[in-house]
Amino acid sequence: AENLVAIFLDRQTAFGAKPAIVWRDTPVIDFAGVPAMIGRYRAALTALGVKRGDRVMVKTENSPSFVYTYLAVLASGAIFVPMNAAYTAAEVALLIEDAEPALLVHAAATPVPGQDAAPVKRMTLEPDGSGSLPDLALSLEPDLSIEAVASSDLAAILFTSGTTGRPKGAMLSHGNLSSNVAALHEAWHFSSDDSILHTLPLFHAHGLFVALHLALYNAATLVMLPKFNAADVIQGLGLVSVFMGVPTFYARLLAEPAFDRDVCGTIRLFVSGSAPLLPSVFEAFEARTGHRILERYGMTEALMITSNAYAQEGRIAGTVGYPLPGVSLNVVDADRNRLPAGEVGEIEIKGPNLCAGYWRRPEATAESFYADGFFRTGDTGRKDADGRVTIVGRSKDLIISGGFNVYPAEVEILLAEVAGVVDVAVFGVPHPDFGEAVVAAVTVDGPDFDVAALEAAAAANLARFKQPKAIHVLSELPRNAMGKVVKTELRKRYAESFT
Ligand code: ATP
Ligand code: MG
Repeated sequence: AENLVAIFLDRQTAFGAKPAIVWRDTPVIDFAGVPAMIGRYRAALTALGVKRGDRVMVKTENSPSFVYTYLAVLASGAIFVPMNAAYTAAEVALLIEDAEPALLVHAAATPVPGQDAAPVKRMTLEPDGSGSLPDLALSLEPDLSIEAVASSDLAAILFTSGTTGRPKGAMLSHGNLSSNVAALHEAWHFSSDDSILHTLPLFHAHGLFVALHLALYNAATLVMLPKFNAADVIQGLGLVSVFMGVPTFYARLLAEPAFDRDVCGTIRLFVSGSAPLLPSVFEAFEARTGHRILERYGMTEALMITSNAYAQEGRIAGTVGYPLPGVSLNVVDADRNRLPAGEVGEIEIKGPNLCAGYWRRPEATAESFYADGFFRTGDTGRKDADGRVTIVGRSKDLIISGGFNVYPAEVEILLAEVAGVVDVAVFGVPHPDFGEAVVAAVTVDGPDFDVAALEAAAAANLARFKQPKAIHVLSELPRNAMGKVVKTELRKRYAESFT
Protein backbone atom coordinates (compact mmCIF):
# COMPACT_ATOMS: atom_id res chain seq x y z
CA ALA A 1 0.00 0.00 0.00
CA GLU A 2 1.22 3.53 -0.77
CA ASN A 3 -1.62 5.51 0.80
CA LEU A 4 -0.36 6.47 4.25
CA VAL A 5 -3.77 5.73 5.77
CA ALA A 6 -3.70 2.17 4.43
CA ILE A 7 -0.24 1.75 5.96
CA PHE A 8 -1.51 2.95 9.35
CA LEU A 9 -4.65 0.78 9.30
CA ASP A 10 -2.69 -2.34 8.29
CA ARG A 11 -0.45 -1.87 11.28
CA GLN A 12 -3.38 -1.37 13.69
CA THR A 13 -5.39 -4.53 12.87
CA ALA A 14 -4.14 -6.60 15.80
CA PHE A 15 -4.93 -3.89 18.38
CA GLY A 16 -8.69 -3.40 18.00
CA ALA A 17 -9.56 -3.31 21.69
CA LYS A 18 -6.91 -0.75 22.60
CA PRO A 19 -7.78 2.96 22.95
CA ALA A 20 -6.54 4.87 19.91
CA ILE A 21 -7.25 8.34 21.30
CA VAL A 22 -7.72 9.57 24.84
CA TRP A 23 -9.07 13.15 24.76
CA ARG A 24 -8.19 14.97 27.95
CA ASP A 25 -9.06 12.12 30.37
CA THR A 26 -11.54 10.14 28.30
CA PRO A 27 -10.91 7.33 25.80
CA VAL A 28 -12.95 8.36 22.74
CA ILE A 29 -12.18 5.66 20.17
CA ASP A 30 -10.42 2.29 20.06
CA PHE A 31 -8.39 1.03 17.10
CA ALA A 32 -11.27 -1.20 15.97
CA GLY A 33 -13.36 1.93 15.50
CA VAL A 34 -10.82 3.93 13.53
CA PRO A 35 -11.51 2.62 9.97
CA ALA A 36 -15.25 3.31 10.20
CA MET A 37 -14.68 6.76 11.68
CA ILE A 38 -12.32 7.66 8.83
CA GLY A 39 -14.92 6.16 6.47
CA ARG A 40 -17.70 8.44 7.76
CA TYR A 41 -15.57 11.53 7.33
CA ARG A 42 -14.55 10.29 3.90
CA ALA A 43 -18.24 9.90 2.98
CA ALA A 44 -18.82 13.47 4.20
CA LEU A 45 -15.98 14.80 2.05
CA THR A 46 -17.42 13.01 -0.99
CA ALA A 47 -20.89 14.41 -0.23
CA LEU A 48 -19.30 17.88 -0.16
CA GLY A 49 -17.77 17.33 -3.59
CA VAL A 50 -14.16 16.78 -2.52
CA LYS A 51 -12.33 14.69 -5.10
CA ARG A 52 -8.88 13.19 -5.46
CA GLY A 53 -6.25 15.93 -5.82
CA ASP A 54 -8.50 18.62 -4.29
CA ARG A 55 -7.16 20.72 -1.43
CA VAL A 56 -8.97 20.73 1.89
CA MET A 57 -7.93 23.61 4.17
CA VAL A 58 -8.33 23.27 7.89
CA LYS A 59 -8.10 26.05 10.46
CA THR A 60 -9.06 24.94 13.93
CA GLU A 61 -7.62 23.73 17.22
CA ASN A 62 -6.54 20.17 18.06
CA SER A 63 -9.27 17.61 18.70
CA PRO A 64 -9.94 13.96 17.78
CA SER A 65 -12.21 15.22 14.96
CA PHE A 66 -9.20 17.09 13.54
CA VAL A 67 -7.39 13.74 13.35
CA TYR A 68 -10.34 12.02 11.63
CA THR A 69 -10.63 14.85 9.12
CA TYR A 70 -6.93 14.62 8.32
CA LEU A 71 -7.01 10.86 7.79
CA ALA A 72 -10.18 11.06 5.68
CA VAL A 73 -8.64 13.68 3.40
CA LEU A 74 -5.67 11.39 2.76
CA ALA A 75 -7.89 8.30 2.38
CA SER A 76 -9.82 10.07 -0.37
CA GLY A 77 -6.66 11.03 -2.26
CA ALA A 78 -7.21 14.72 -1.53
CA ILE A 79 -4.55 17.08 -0.16
CA PHE A 80 -4.59 18.26 3.44
CA VAL A 81 -3.71 21.95 3.97
CA PRO A 82 -3.73 22.88 7.65
CA MET A 83 -3.27 26.46 8.76
CA ASN A 84 -2.00 28.09 11.90
CA ALA A 85 -5.12 28.73 13.99
CA ALA A 86 -3.68 32.17 14.87
CA TYR A 87 -3.61 33.49 11.29
CA THR A 88 -5.68 36.60 10.63
CA ALA A 89 -8.53 36.71 8.09
CA ALA A 90 -6.27 38.60 5.66
CA GLU A 91 -3.55 35.94 5.92
CA VAL A 92 -6.10 33.18 5.37
CA ALA A 93 -7.49 35.00 2.32
CA LEU A 94 -4.03 34.91 0.73
CA LEU A 95 -3.63 31.22 1.45
CA ILE A 96 -7.08 30.44 0.04
CA GLU A 97 -6.23 32.33 -3.11
CA ASP A 98 -2.99 30.38 -3.27
CA ALA A 99 -4.29 26.87 -2.52
CA GLU A 100 -7.73 27.14 -4.19
CA PRO A 101 -9.28 24.63 -1.82
CA ALA A 102 -12.46 22.70 -2.61
CA LEU A 103 -13.40 22.99 1.06
CA LEU A 104 -12.49 25.15 4.05
CA VAL A 105 -13.00 23.56 7.46
CA HIS A 106 -12.78 26.05 10.31
CA ALA A 107 -13.88 26.85 13.84
CA ALA A 108 -16.72 29.37 13.95
CA ALA A 109 -14.74 31.75 16.15
CA THR A 110 -11.45 31.62 14.25
CA PRO A 111 -10.73 34.53 11.89
CA VAL A 112 -11.48 33.65 8.25
CA PRO A 113 -12.36 35.97 5.35
CA GLY A 114 -15.99 36.36 4.31
CA GLN A 115 -17.49 34.55 1.31
CA ASP A 116 -17.14 37.69 -0.85
CA ALA A 117 -13.42 37.98 -0.17
CA ALA A 118 -12.85 34.23 -0.50
CA PRO A 119 -15.61 32.24 -2.19
CA VAL A 120 -15.18 28.63 -1.06
CA LYS A 121 -17.41 25.91 0.39
CA ARG A 122 -17.16 25.87 4.20
CA MET A 123 -17.91 23.52 7.08
CA THR A 124 -17.25 24.03 10.78
CA LEU A 125 -15.08 22.09 13.19
CA GLU A 126 -14.98 23.51 16.70
CA PRO A 127 -12.15 23.21 19.24
CA ASP A 128 -14.27 20.71 21.20
CA GLY A 129 -14.56 18.46 18.12
CA SER A 130 -18.20 19.30 17.29
CA GLY A 131 -19.39 21.15 14.17
CA SER A 132 -21.19 20.78 10.86
CA LEU A 133 -18.49 18.51 9.40
CA PRO A 134 -18.59 15.96 12.24
CA ASP A 135 -22.41 16.17 12.25
CA LEU A 136 -22.53 15.32 8.56
CA ALA A 137 -19.93 12.55 8.95
CA LEU A 138 -21.77 10.88 11.81
CA SER A 139 -25.02 10.89 9.81
CA LEU A 140 -23.48 8.91 6.92
CA GLU A 141 -22.59 5.27 6.30
CA PRO A 142 -18.81 4.80 6.31
CA ASP A 143 -17.02 4.60 2.96
CA LEU A 144 -14.28 2.14 3.89
CA SER A 145 -12.45 2.34 0.59
CA ILE A 146 -9.03 3.95 0.49
CA GLU A 147 -7.94 5.68 -2.69
CA ALA A 148 -4.95 4.01 -4.33
CA VAL A 149 -2.16 6.56 -4.73
CA ALA A 150 1.43 6.57 -5.94
CA SER A 151 4.04 7.32 -3.29
CA SER A 152 4.82 10.55 -5.18
CA ASP A 153 1.19 11.75 -5.00
CA LEU A 154 0.67 14.72 -2.72
CA ALA A 155 -0.77 14.08 0.74
CA ALA A 156 -0.39 17.52 2.29
CA ILE A 157 0.74 21.06 1.75
CA LEU A 158 2.15 22.48 4.96
CA PHE A 159 3.13 26.08 5.35
CA THR A 160 6.50 26.85 6.94
CA SER A 161 6.41 28.75 10.23
CA GLY A 162 7.17 32.13 8.65
CA THR A 163 10.13 32.73 10.98
CA THR A 164 12.22 34.29 8.22
CA GLY A 165 9.60 35.56 5.77
CA ARG A 166 6.24 34.81 4.19
CA PRO A 167 5.25 31.18 4.87
CA LYS A 168 5.85 28.83 1.93
CA GLY A 169 3.72 25.74 1.20
CA ALA A 170 5.82 22.56 1.18
CA MET A 171 4.31 19.92 -1.14
CA LEU A 172 4.61 16.64 0.75
CA SER A 173 3.85 13.25 -0.78
CA HIS A 174 2.56 10.04 0.76
CA GLY A 175 6.08 8.65 0.29
CA ASN A 176 7.68 11.58 2.14
CA LEU A 177 5.39 10.97 5.11
CA SER A 178 5.60 7.18 5.23
CA SER A 179 9.38 7.01 4.82
CA ASN A 180 9.89 9.53 7.60
CA VAL A 181 7.62 7.88 10.15
CA ALA A 182 9.26 4.51 9.42
CA ALA A 183 12.71 6.05 10.00
CA LEU A 184 11.64 7.63 13.31
CA HIS A 185 9.97 4.41 14.44
CA GLU A 186 13.32 2.63 14.11
CA ALA A 187 15.49 5.45 15.41
CA TRP A 188 13.44 6.02 18.56
CA HIS A 189 12.61 2.35 19.31
CA PHE A 190 8.84 2.71 19.06
CA SER A 191 6.42 -0.18 19.57
CA SER A 192 2.77 -0.82 20.31
CA ASP A 193 3.69 -0.68 24.02
CA ASP A 194 4.11 3.08 23.71
CA SER A 195 1.63 5.84 24.34
CA ILE A 196 2.22 9.50 23.53
CA LEU A 197 1.13 12.66 25.31
CA HIS A 198 0.27 15.07 22.49
CA THR A 199 0.11 18.84 23.07
CA LEU A 200 1.75 20.21 19.90
CA PRO A 201 -0.33 22.01 17.26
CA LEU A 202 -1.61 19.61 14.59
CA PHE A 203 -1.22 22.28 11.90
CA HIS A 204 2.57 21.97 12.07
CA ALA A 205 4.96 19.17 11.05
CA HIS A 206 6.08 18.42 14.61
CA GLY A 207 2.58 17.72 15.95
CA LEU A 208 1.16 16.17 12.78
CA PHE A 209 3.99 14.16 11.23
CA VAL A 210 6.10 13.29 14.26
CA ALA A 211 3.83 12.89 17.29
CA LEU A 212 0.54 11.87 15.61
CA HIS A 213 2.14 9.70 12.91
CA LEU A 214 4.27 7.76 15.37
CA ALA A 215 1.17 6.94 17.41
CA LEU A 216 -0.83 5.82 14.35
CA TYR A 217 2.08 3.85 12.87
CA ASN A 218 2.62 1.93 16.11
CA ALA A 219 -0.96 1.52 17.28
CA ALA A 220 0.21 3.49 20.30
CA THR A 221 -2.46 5.27 22.33
CA LEU A 222 -2.51 9.02 21.73
CA VAL A 223 -3.34 11.03 24.83
CA MET A 224 -4.40 14.40 23.41
CA LEU A 225 -4.63 17.71 25.20
CA PRO A 226 -6.02 20.74 23.35
CA LYS A 227 -2.73 22.58 23.87
CA PHE A 228 0.34 22.73 26.06
CA ASN A 229 -0.17 23.73 29.64
CA ALA A 230 2.47 22.79 32.22
CA ALA A 231 0.03 21.74 34.95
CA ASP A 232 -1.98 19.49 32.57
CA VAL A 233 1.18 17.95 31.16
CA ILE A 234 2.47 17.17 34.66
CA GLN A 235 -0.86 15.39 35.26
CA GLY A 236 -0.83 13.58 31.92
CA LEU A 237 2.75 12.32 31.88
CA GLY A 238 1.91 9.44 34.21
CA LEU A 239 -0.37 7.96 31.53
CA VAL A 240 2.24 7.72 28.78
CA SER A 241 5.73 6.60 27.78
CA VAL A 242 6.67 9.41 25.36
CA PHE A 243 6.38 13.19 25.32
CA MET A 244 7.39 15.53 22.50
CA GLY A 245 7.81 19.26 22.70
CA VAL A 246 9.42 22.45 21.53
CA PRO A 247 12.16 23.82 23.80
CA THR A 248 9.85 26.32 25.50
CA PHE A 249 7.68 23.43 26.75
CA TYR A 250 10.70 22.04 28.61
CA ALA A 251 11.64 25.42 30.03
CA ARG A 252 8.05 25.89 31.25
CA LEU A 253 7.95 22.44 32.84
CA LEU A 254 11.17 23.24 34.70
CA ALA A 255 9.59 26.42 36.03
CA GLU A 256 7.06 24.24 37.94
CA PRO A 257 8.33 23.03 41.33
CA ALA A 258 5.90 20.08 41.05
CA PHE A 259 7.79 18.81 37.99
CA ASP A 260 10.22 16.20 39.27
CA ARG A 261 11.57 12.70 38.79
CA ASP A 262 8.40 11.03 40.14
CA VAL A 263 6.21 12.78 37.57
CA CYS A 264 8.33 11.15 34.83
CA GLY A 265 8.18 7.62 36.25
CA THR A 266 6.53 6.00 33.20
CA ILE A 267 8.42 7.96 30.54
CA ARG A 268 11.05 6.37 28.33
CA LEU A 269 11.56 9.24 25.90
CA PHE A 270 11.41 13.04 25.83
CA VAL A 271 11.97 14.55 22.38
CA SER A 272 12.71 18.19 21.55
CA GLY A 273 12.81 20.01 18.24
CA SER A 274 11.58 22.88 16.03
CA ALA A 275 14.05 25.29 17.62
CA PRO A 276 17.41 24.97 19.41
CA LEU A 277 17.31 23.43 22.88
CA LEU A 278 19.70 25.35 25.11
CA PRO A 279 22.28 23.09 26.77
CA SER A 280 21.45 24.87 30.03
CA VAL A 281 17.86 23.57 29.73
CA PHE A 282 19.05 20.08 28.73
CA GLU A 283 21.29 20.01 31.83
CA ALA A 284 18.69 21.37 34.23
CA PHE A 285 16.20 18.81 32.89
CA GLU A 286 18.60 15.94 33.44
CA ALA A 287 19.45 17.15 36.94
CA ARG A 288 15.74 17.42 37.85
CA THR A 289 14.37 14.26 36.23
CA GLY A 290 17.28 11.98 35.35
CA HIS A 291 16.16 12.10 31.68
CA ARG A 292 18.34 13.29 28.83
CA ILE A 293 16.12 15.01 26.26
CA LEU A 294 16.60 13.59 22.76
CA GLU A 295 16.99 16.49 20.33
CA ARG A 296 16.28 16.18 16.64
CA TYR A 297 16.39 18.59 13.70
CA GLY A 298 13.78 18.95 11.02
CA MET A 299 11.77 21.34 8.92
CA THR A 300 8.45 21.55 7.13
CA GLU A 301 10.09 20.90 3.76
CA ALA A 302 11.81 17.68 4.79
CA LEU A 303 10.16 16.50 8.02
CA MET A 304 12.79 14.97 10.29
CA ILE A 305 16.38 15.17 9.03
CA THR A 306 18.74 14.28 11.90
CA SER A 307 18.38 12.84 15.37
CA ASN A 308 20.55 12.22 18.37
CA ALA A 309 21.17 8.53 19.02
CA TYR A 310 18.64 6.74 21.19
CA ALA A 311 21.05 5.49 23.88
CA GLN A 312 21.27 7.88 26.85
CA GLU A 313 24.95 8.57 26.24
CA GLY A 314 24.14 9.24 22.57
CA ARG A 315 22.02 12.28 23.47
CA ILE A 316 24.42 15.22 23.48
CA ALA A 317 23.32 18.73 24.47
CA GLY A 318 23.66 21.36 21.78
CA THR A 319 23.84 18.84 18.91
CA VAL A 320 21.15 17.39 16.67
CA GLY A 321 22.82 14.04 16.04
CA TYR A 322 23.10 12.13 12.78
CA PRO A 323 21.15 12.09 9.50
CA LEU A 324 18.28 9.59 9.61
CA PRO A 325 18.66 6.49 7.40
CA GLY A 326 18.36 7.43 3.72
CA VAL A 327 19.10 11.12 4.34
CA SER A 328 22.27 12.73 2.92
CA LEU A 329 23.49 15.87 4.65
CA ASN A 330 26.39 18.05 3.48
CA VAL A 331 27.94 21.13 5.02
CA VAL A 332 29.03 23.32 2.12
CA ASP A 333 30.58 26.69 1.29
CA ALA A 334 29.02 29.31 -0.97
CA ASP A 335 30.12 27.34 -4.07
CA ARG A 336 28.67 24.11 -2.70
CA ASN A 337 32.08 22.58 -1.98
CA ARG A 338 31.86 20.16 0.93
CA LEU A 339 33.68 21.47 3.98
CA PRO A 340 35.93 19.38 6.21
CA ALA A 341 34.77 18.21 9.64
CA GLY A 342 34.51 21.02 12.17
CA GLU A 343 34.05 23.84 9.65
CA VAL A 344 30.84 25.83 9.62
CA GLY A 345 28.85 26.17 6.41
CA GLU A 346 25.36 25.91 4.97
CA ILE A 347 23.51 22.63 5.41
CA GLU A 348 22.06 20.96 2.32
CA ILE A 349 20.12 17.72 2.36
CA LYS A 350 18.55 15.10 0.15
CA GLY A 351 16.44 12.03 0.83
CA PRO A 352 13.06 10.31 0.63
CA ASN A 353 11.81 12.82 3.21
CA LEU A 354 12.37 15.89 1.01
CA CYS A 355 9.26 17.57 -0.43
CA ALA A 356 8.75 18.14 -4.15
CA GLY A 357 9.00 21.94 -3.88
CA TYR A 358 6.93 24.92 -2.80
CA TRP A 359 3.31 25.09 -3.93
CA ARG A 360 2.92 27.71 -6.67
CA ARG A 361 6.20 29.44 -5.74
CA PRO A 362 8.49 28.64 -8.71
CA GLU A 363 11.08 31.31 -7.76
CA ALA A 364 11.30 30.15 -4.16
CA THR A 365 11.53 26.54 -5.38
CA ALA A 366 14.28 27.39 -7.87
CA GLU A 367 16.21 29.22 -5.15
CA SER A 368 16.29 26.30 -2.74
CA PHE A 369 16.05 23.07 -4.76
CA TYR A 370 19.09 22.09 -6.85
CA ALA A 371 18.86 20.00 -10.01
CA ASP A 372 20.83 17.18 -8.33
CA GLY A 373 18.08 16.70 -5.73
CA PHE A 374 19.69 18.58 -2.85
CA PHE A 375 17.85 21.27 -0.89
CA ARG A 376 19.35 24.36 0.73
CA THR A 377 18.04 24.33 4.27
CA GLY A 378 18.99 27.92 5.07
CA ASP A 379 20.57 26.63 8.29
CA THR A 380 24.27 26.80 9.08
CA GLY A 381 26.10 24.15 11.01
CA ARG A 382 29.03 21.78 11.16
CA LYS A 383 29.75 18.08 11.26
CA ASP A 384 32.17 16.40 13.67
CA ALA A 385 34.69 13.84 12.44
CA ASP A 386 32.15 11.09 13.17
CA GLY A 387 29.32 12.89 11.34
CA ARG A 388 27.43 14.34 14.30
CA VAL A 389 25.71 17.58 13.30
CA THR A 390 25.56 20.84 15.27
CA ILE A 391 23.34 23.73 14.12
CA VAL A 392 24.83 27.17 14.73
CA GLY A 393 21.94 29.28 13.44
CA ARG A 394 20.11 30.24 10.31
CA SER A 395 22.06 31.68 7.40
CA LYS A 396 19.89 34.79 7.63
CA ASP A 397 20.82 35.21 11.31
CA LEU A 398 24.58 35.04 10.77
CA ILE A 399 26.20 38.20 12.15
CA ILE A 400 29.19 39.73 10.40
CA SER A 401 30.95 42.09 12.77
CA GLY A 402 34.17 43.80 11.72
CA GLY A 403 34.45 41.29 8.89
CA PHE A 404 34.27 38.28 11.22
CA ASN A 405 31.44 35.73 11.32
CA VAL A 406 29.60 35.44 14.61
CA TYR A 407 27.29 32.44 14.97
CA PRO A 408 24.47 33.41 17.33
CA ALA A 409 24.20 29.97 18.94
CA GLU A 410 27.73 30.16 20.35
CA VAL A 411 26.97 33.40 22.17
CA GLU A 412 23.46 32.30 23.19
CA ILE A 413 24.70 29.07 24.76
CA LEU A 414 27.32 30.92 26.77
CA LEU A 415 24.95 33.62 28.06
CA ALA A 416 22.31 31.03 28.94
CA GLU A 417 24.78 29.42 31.37
CA VAL A 418 24.86 32.57 33.52
CA ALA A 419 22.83 32.09 36.71
CA GLY A 420 19.42 33.76 36.53
CA VAL A 421 19.16 33.80 32.73
CA VAL A 422 15.99 32.12 31.50
CA ASP A 423 16.07 32.73 27.77
CA VAL A 424 18.36 34.46 25.30
CA ALA A 425 18.50 35.58 21.68
CA VAL A 426 21.56 37.01 19.96
CA PHE A 427 21.28 38.96 16.72
CA GLY A 428 23.03 41.59 14.63
CA VAL A 429 22.08 45.22 14.07
CA PRO A 430 23.70 47.83 11.80
CA HIS A 431 26.80 49.50 13.24
CA PRO A 432 28.76 52.36 11.60
CA ASP A 433 32.23 50.92 12.32
CA PHE A 434 31.71 47.18 12.40
CA GLY A 435 29.01 46.75 9.77
CA GLU A 436 26.97 44.83 12.30
CA ALA A 437 27.12 44.77 16.08
CA VAL A 438 26.26 41.75 18.21
CA VAL A 439 23.24 42.44 20.45
CA ALA A 440 21.66 40.17 23.05
CA ALA A 441 18.12 40.10 24.43
CA VAL A 442 17.53 38.05 27.59
CA THR A 443 14.77 37.17 29.97
CA VAL A 444 15.76 36.59 33.60
CA ASP A 445 14.24 34.99 36.70
CA GLY A 446 14.05 37.97 39.05
CA PRO A 447 14.31 41.75 39.49
CA ASP A 448 17.80 41.60 41.08
CA PHE A 449 19.47 40.29 37.99
CA ASP A 450 22.63 42.23 37.14
CA VAL A 451 23.58 42.56 33.48
CA ALA A 452 27.21 42.91 34.57
CA ALA A 453 27.27 39.13 35.07
CA LEU A 454 26.54 38.66 31.36
CA GLU A 455 29.15 41.20 30.34
CA ALA A 456 31.69 39.45 32.54
CA ALA A 457 30.87 36.03 31.08
CA ALA A 458 31.18 37.38 27.54
CA ALA A 459 34.46 39.19 28.31
CA ALA A 460 35.97 36.10 29.92
CA ASN A 461 34.97 33.63 27.20
CA LEU A 462 34.49 35.35 23.87
CA ALA A 463 36.73 37.16 21.43
CA ARG A 464 36.01 40.87 21.48
CA PHE A 465 34.12 40.87 18.13
CA LYS A 466 31.68 38.26 19.46
CA GLN A 467 30.87 40.12 22.67
CA PRO A 468 27.45 41.80 22.71
CA LYS A 469 27.70 45.58 22.39
CA ALA A 470 24.29 45.90 24.01
CA ILE A 471 22.30 43.58 26.26
CA HIS A 472 18.57 44.15 26.71
CA VAL A 473 16.60 42.56 29.55
CA LEU A 474 13.05 41.92 28.30
CA SER A 475 9.97 40.51 30.00
CA GLU A 476 9.62 38.09 27.08
CA LEU A 477 11.19 37.34 23.71
CA PRO A 478 9.03 37.72 20.59
CA ARG A 479 8.04 34.23 19.51
CA ASN A 480 5.78 32.81 16.81
CA ALA A 481 3.15 30.10 17.25
CA MET A 482 5.81 27.37 17.21
CA GLY A 483 7.75 28.99 20.04
CA LYS A 484 10.52 30.20 17.73
CA VAL A 485 12.22 33.50 18.49
CA VAL A 486 11.43 35.95 15.71
CA LYS A 487 14.82 37.59 15.26
CA THR A 488 13.62 39.82 12.42
CA GLU A 489 11.40 41.49 15.01
CA LEU A 490 14.34 42.00 17.40
CA ARG A 491 16.56 43.34 14.61
CA LYS A 492 13.86 45.82 13.68
CA ARG A 493 13.33 46.90 17.28
CA TYR A 494 17.02 47.72 17.86
CA ALA A 495 17.96 48.70 14.28
CA GLU A 496 18.81 52.29 15.21
CA SER A 497 20.79 51.53 18.39
CA PHE A 498 24.14 52.45 16.88
CA THR A 499 23.27 54.66 13.95
P1 ATP B 1 10.26 29.88 7.59
O1 ATP B 1 10.92 28.84 6.75
O2 ATP B 1 8.90 30.23 7.07
O3 ATP B 1 11.11 31.07 7.86
P2 ATP B 1 10.73 28.08 9.81
O4 ATP B 1 11.99 27.73 9.10
O5 ATP B 1 10.84 28.43 11.26
O6 ATP B 1 9.96 29.26 9.06
P3 ATP B 1 9.79 25.37 10.12
O7 ATP B 1 9.83 24.53 8.91
O8 ATP B 1 8.70 25.18 11.10
O9 ATP B 1 9.69 26.89 9.66
O10 ATP B 1 11.13 25.23 10.94
C1 ATP B 1 12.31 24.65 10.43
C2 ATP B 1 13.51 25.34 11.05
O11 ATP B 1 13.49 25.21 12.48
C3 ATP B 1 14.81 24.75 10.63
O12 ATP B 1 15.23 25.21 9.35
C4 ATP B 1 15.74 25.20 11.76
O13 ATP B 1 16.19 26.54 11.55
C5 ATP B 1 14.82 25.19 12.97
N1 ATP B 1 15.03 23.97 13.79
C6 ATP B 1 14.29 22.84 13.83
N2 ATP B 1 14.78 21.97 14.71
C7 ATP B 1 15.88 22.54 15.25
C8 ATP B 1 16.85 22.15 16.23
N3 ATP B 1 16.77 20.99 16.88
N4 ATP B 1 17.86 23.01 16.51
C9 ATP B 1 17.96 24.20 15.88
N5 ATP B 1 17.09 24.64 14.96
C10 ATP B 1 16.05 23.82 14.65
MG1 MG C 1 12.37 27.51 7.06
